[in-house]
Amino acid sequence: MPPPKELDMSNKCGFCETKTETDMLVLGDQWLEFCSPCGEKETLTNRETGEVATIKAVFDKTEDGTSDKAVATKTKVTTTMMETTNGETWHEKSIEVSLTACSSCGLLWDRKWQAESCEKRGHVESFPQHYGGYVENGVYKPANTYIRKSYGRN
Ligand SMILES: [Zn+2]
Ligand SMILES: [Zn+2]
Repeated sequence: MPPPKELDMSNKCGFCETKTETDMLVLGDQWLEFCSPCGEKETLTNRETGEVATIKAVFDKTEDGTSDKAVATKTKVTTTMMETTNGETWHEKSIEVSLTACSSCGLLWDRKWQAESCEKRGHVESFPQHYGGYVENGVYKPANTYIRKSYGRN
């Protein structure tokens, strides 16, 4: 789910660095913040299929969506998201979100993708999430690791 609108207003595009209204694309453990011109211009390559699409196209696909693996709830929590402007330094920022439940085990998460991937993780109650870092000899070395915890069961 996108961060609340009022927080978007003060955000900064991670590509052109313009302070403007932005959207946030969540790809696994990465957050890409973009303004609408950059969303139309910058492209991403799908590592599995080789398909190239604009950030906006990927974002629209991700956001649209009803998924049978995740169920939205009305419970709001304050949580943190990681933000970067240069892709290297990350800092935490507070946001208010609605919890999403995994539709098979009922565990509650503060991000839709976390609920959707609950099954893949084996329905565990917490998991590590990595930010930043680099790849050395084919091995990803994260700069920061945070433990994400479920908010209990629906
Ligand atoms: Zn931009
Ligand atoms: Zn689950």
